[in-house]
Amino acid sequence: MLPGVFRLRLPLPWPGVPHCNAWAVAAADGCVLFDTGMHQPDSLPHLERALAMCDLSLEQVRLVVCTHAHSDHYGQAATIVERAGCELWMHPAHGHLTRMAEDPDAVFERRMEIARQSGVPAEPLRRYATERRSRESGIAGVIEPDRDLLDGVTIDTALGAWTVHETPGHAPSHVCLFQPERRLMISGDHLLGRISLYFDYGFTPDPVGEFLHSLDVVEKLNARLCLPGHGRTFSDVYAHIDGNRKLVRERLERVLDAVAQTPLSAFEVVPHVYGDSLSPSNTHWLLSKVLCYLTHLQAVGDVRRIPGEPERWTA
Ligand SMILES: [Zn+2]
Ligand SMILES: [Zn+2]
Repeated sequence: MLPGVFRLRLPLPWPGVPHCNAWAVAAADGCVLFDTGMHQPDSLPHLERALAMCDLSLEQVRLVVCTHAHSDHYGQAATIVERAGCELWMHPAHGHLTRMAEDPDAVFERRMEIARQSGVPAEPLRRYATERRSRESGIAGVIEPDRDLLDGVTIDTALGAWTVHETPGHAPSHVCLFQPERRLMISGDHLLGRISLYFDYGFTPDPVGEFLHSLDVVEKLNARLCLPGHGRTFSDVYAHIDGNRKLVRERLERVLDAVAQTPLSAFEVVPHVYGDSLSPSNTHWLLSKVLCYLTHLQAVGDVRRIPGEPERWTA
């Protein structure tokens, strides 16, 4: 695609999201690796094969940079850092994932508590619990970043320096990387080729508000080409930013319409926004999003939380 930039397409075990991208950018007789792919039984040979197709080896990775601490972007960091003897750079607000990896039971209990409080009935809750416990974390090991990726930090590559731009919302630890001379942006999951929203619930005051602000941040960069965390590169960056804003607005309107008629639990709001698509494998995903929309509507004064078991929301 571009001399010195390689897309490593790595497999994921998730329905509807079959791949993620790691980006290898030429640097000092090797490369800087942006994102890592998930840790799975065959994930390391996959990564090594993908690197070999670009005439690179794991030992030539000079630095690992994670756009955010989700398992598909950070999962193999520990293994790569160990094999390559390089550093890991990542945003310091990575507790949303590293805490889970260190104490999965505590985080799972908290999730179940949120689900119960959000009105998920006993039977789907039990099925969700069974499904969830059988799943692997996707993380090879928990390692702390050697350097914090905060606004203003730069990453040197053969294509020039990349600047860090904090873009929380999808995850508290999310950053985008921008190469100003070539106007390239490594956008992680902040901007994807196919517009798809997700927000981590429960770690920051208003993830949706943070995400909207982060869209303003990347809009100002005026990138020419986006290298996303999933799917193909795209050049109509502004259209993607605008598309994200529109979809957020549309979701917020649906949530508000639903609770304007009668007070509802977050669980009861889900079908108003997503139809009948709640299943054990997406309960956490959809509930997180709805709770983030409700939290945002509360922050801007459009809805109110009614405490109780379950807690309900009203306009
Ligand atoms: Zn993500
Ligand atoms: Zn991702």
